[in-house]
Amino acid sequence: MNIPRSSYPRIVIIGGGFGGISLAKKLAHKEVQVVLLDKHNYHTFQPLLYQVSTGGLEPDSIAYPIRKVLKDYPNFFFRLAEVFQIHPEKKSVVTNIGTLHYDYLVLATGSETNYFGNSEIEKNGMSMKSIPESLNLRSLILENFEQALLTDDLHERDALMNFVIVGGGPTGVELAGALAEIKKGILPKDYPDLDTRRAQINLVQSNGRILKEMSEEASSKAEDFLEKLGVQIWKNTRVTGYDGKLATTATELTFETATLIWAAGVKGALVQGLDAKDLLSGGRIRVNEFNQVEAWPNIFAIGDVACLVSEKYPRGHPMMAQPAIQQGRSLGENLIRLIEDKPMKPFSYWDKGSMATVGRNKAVVDLPKFKFQGVFAWFVWMFVHLFFLIGFRNRMVVFVNWVYNYVRFDREARLIIRPFNKDYSAFKD
Ligand SMILES: Cc1cc2nc3c(=O)[nH]c(=O)nc-3n(C[C@H](O)[C@H](O)[C@H](O)COP(=O)(O)OP(=O)(O)OC[C@H]3O[C@@H](n4cnc5c(N)ncnc54)[C@H](O)[C@@H]3O)c2cc1C
Repeated sequence: MNIPRSSYPRIVIIGGGFGGISLAKKLAHKEVQVVLLDKHNYHTFQPLLYQVSTGGLEPDSIAYPIRKVLKDYPNFFFRLAEVFQIHPEKKSVVTNIGTLHYDYLVLATGSETNYFGNSEIEKNGMSMKSIPESLNLRSLILENFEQALLTDDLHERDALMNFVIVGGGPTGVELAGALAEIKKGILPKDYPDLDTRRAQINLVQSNGRILKEMSEEASSKAEDFLEKLGVQIWKNTRVTGYDGKLATTATELTFETATLIWAAGVKGALVQGLDAKDLLSGGRIRVNEFNQVEAWPNIFAIGDVACLVSEKYPRGHPMMAQPAIQQGRSLGENLIRLIEDKPMKPFSYWDKGSMATVGRNKAVVDLPKFKFQGVFAWFVWMFVHLFFLIGFRNRMVVFVNWVYNYVRFDREARLIIRPFNKDYSAFKD
């Protein structure tokens, strides 16, 4: 990998997401050599992926070059590399560009979509965990309408304009709200020769309430907002299969649809060598209060891939940006303490609350001491997301886009740049 050996200990971080970047920032200007590896050369701001999928934002405005984050840090190296294997006993990682030795290793690989073993849904459904996947979804949504224009078969047309979102967490709710707004505000203008009132947005949730990790107030208000926007919510309904045309559920309910979006689960993005069952808790790498893998004291894990069990969080911290950021900062301090032979400090999570937006002027916010919903919550949601975006340019571009979209009731990034090319032959039967 052409990384010079130095007298400083080498810390290898796998993943330049929320956790990896906050750790790297904490290690800046310390007496360590840091090598950050990521399979992408950019950091992705995942909370706004749904806006890319629905044409509200260009992908560039929610991504940031990792090299730019690290540019002023001495002893920092970035390599565009996918890590395939870890050899803890040899203290090395194997990647597509070679093998690298480490003194300390940090896994910050985040999470991946969990299909719970359903290969049919994995093959035919859409997921939204990365920018390429969001662009695929954006293309498919637009291609479906282009395709619907070409048929006079009402049944086929309805299936092409029927959207099924599986999973009533923040991602499913935000996506459903955005699609409903597109249906109302944009489709009638873009497709005047298509009866877009027939388009359907279905949100399917396996248990009894959407946003189940948030308060009852947030759940019921979000449901109310979505219903007013025309989204059909199917609670206590488990989707069991999707062959590319027909989505089946555990009941007799079925949906004919060209688009099934799977937002029903995530699991730790594990790397071979650290994926043995005895190292895991709930599919994530089990770590102690210092984010340390107990079997390998010089290996650490932070963020979505790590499971730090405590009395308050028996299943680990929520798979959200804040735990990843805070664990990165805490580990940065602890690694320096460890190198200096000082005792490490246990990680303690400061829960700042959670929020979700349903659409224009509609959001729900649960703070530790207050809960509120509606217009003010929407402004808070926007402010927080702008604040946490990396890069001044990105903040400006997103802000200007939001103002433009708000004033003009528009989403101009509805472009098919890279066609998805779904096979529509089954819809013609
Ligand atoms: C659609 C969506 C919406 C979300 N909305 C919110 C929200 O509103 N609020 C919130 O708090 N959280 C939200 N989250 C969750 C939040 O984004 C994650 O919890 C957070 O990104 C976790 O940070 P991380 O550092 O653990 O991993 P990530 O930010 O996912 O970063 C992992 C990095 O590791 C890299 N990587 C993975 N495997 C390898 C490998 N083998 N080799 C090299 N590189 C690798 C990836 O390329 C990536 O850059 C959302 C997530 C999604 C998908």
